[in-house]
Amino acid sequence: MKDKTIICIQCENEFVVTPSEQKRCIYRDFDMPKRCPECRKHKAKIKQPEEWGKKGKHRRVREEQFD
Ligand SMILES: [Zn+2]
Repeated sequence: MKDKTIICIQCENEFVVTPSEQKRCIYRDFDMPKRCPECRKHKAKIKQPEEWGKKGKHRRVREEQFD
């Protein structure tokens, strides 16, 4: 297996997926990454546990209003 160059769908920079990463994707039945490590890091930052907590609260309020 060789290094695979993929263009990030977010920032359109090229990044390399190493053979070991490719094998891991195949083994776990994952798709090849579509974003470069930088964008993935940024995306991970957005998903803070605090944010999820806030969303849950909003949903509960909306459900109460429906009743
Ligand atoms: Zn990117």
